[in-house]
Amino acid sequence: SKRKHAREVNETGVTFDDIGGLDKPKQELKEAIDLLKEDERARKYGIRPLKGILLTGPPGTGKTLIAKAAANYADAAFVAASGSEFVEMYVGVGASRIRDLFKEVKQLAREKGLSRGIIFIDEIDVIGGKRDGQQQKEYDQTLNQLLTEMDGISTTDQPRILLIAATNRVDMLDPALLRPGRFDRLIRVDLPDKKARRHILQLHFSRKPLADNVNLDDVAKDTYGFSGAQLESVANEAAIYAFRSGDSSIDRAHIAQAIEKVMMGEQTDKESTE
Ligand code: ATP
Repeated sequence: SKRKHAREVNETGVTFDDIGGLDKPKQELKEAIDLLKEDERARKYGIRPLKGILLTGPPGTGKTLIAKAAANYADAAFVAASGSEFVEMYVGVGASRIRDLFKEVKQLAREKGLSRGIIFIDEIDVIGGKRDGQQQKEYDQTLNQLLTEMDGISTTDQPRILLIAATNRVDMLDPALLRPGRFDRLIRVDLPDKKARRHILQLHFSRKPLADNVNLDDVAKDTYGFSGAQLESVANEAAIYAFRSGDSSIDRAHIAQAIEKVMMGEQTDKESTE
C-alpha cells in the first residue's frame, strides 16, 4: 500500500530548452553536472565530491522541471519524491523509504546502462525542517537516514549518485543538511522577469492556435509577478476559453480572461490558507 505514494520513476524527456528563462540556474546546473561527469579528474584537484544541490525559490518556478533537465543533461537515471510523502505515522517508515529511493535509482541506472543516478526530493523542508513536537522522532530518523546515505556516496560508486532537492524555505532547513559534502551548492530559482515570462509563454503557446493579433510581449507585461506554473495555466485557460466559445484561435480577450482567472485563483488560495 506504500506504493500508492506514486513516486515518479522515469526517463525525464525534459531538456534545458523546454525551460523558459532561468539562464543562470541552467548554467550553474550544467557546470555542476560537468564537474560530476569528470569526477576522477576533479579528484586530482582535491575538489570535494559533489553530492547535493539545493534549488531554492518560490513555488511553480520550474524547480522540478530544471532537475529533470539536469538529469537528462547528466545522462542519469532519475527518480523523484516529495518530502510530503515521508510524513508517516509509524517510526522508521520514512527512513526505509529513503533507503528504497537510493536502491531504486541505482537499480534503474543499471537497468538502463547509465553510469549516474539523480534523486530529486521536492519540499525537502518537510524532512529536513527545523521542527518541534510529536513527529520529531520520525522526522529525525528520516533525516538521519538521508544524511547517512549522502555521507556514503562515493565518487567511485557505480552508478554515481547525486541528490537534487528543492525548497521554498531554505531558512527553515536543519543546518546539518547544508554542511559541506551535503547540500552545499545552492541555486536560486526565482520568479521570471518580463523577458523570461515572454519566453515561458512562447513555450506554452507554441502548440496552440494563437490569433495573429496576440502580442506575447504585451501578455508578458500583463503577467507581472506570475510564476512559470501560473503562465502555463494562463496558456491552458485561454485555450479553454477559445475552445468553449468555438473560436478557431486564441485571441487577446481569451488571454485577458485567463489572466484574470489565474489571478483570482491565487487570491482564493491565499484566503483559504490564512
Ligand atoms: P513547486 O516548488 O511548487 O513544486 P516547482 O518550482 O517545482 O514548483 P515545476 O513543478 O517545475 O515548479 O513547474 C510546474 C509547471 O509550471 C511545469 O510543469 C511547467 O509546465 C510550468 N513551468 C514552471 N516554470 C517554468 C519555466 N521556467 N519554463 C517553462 N515552464 C515552466
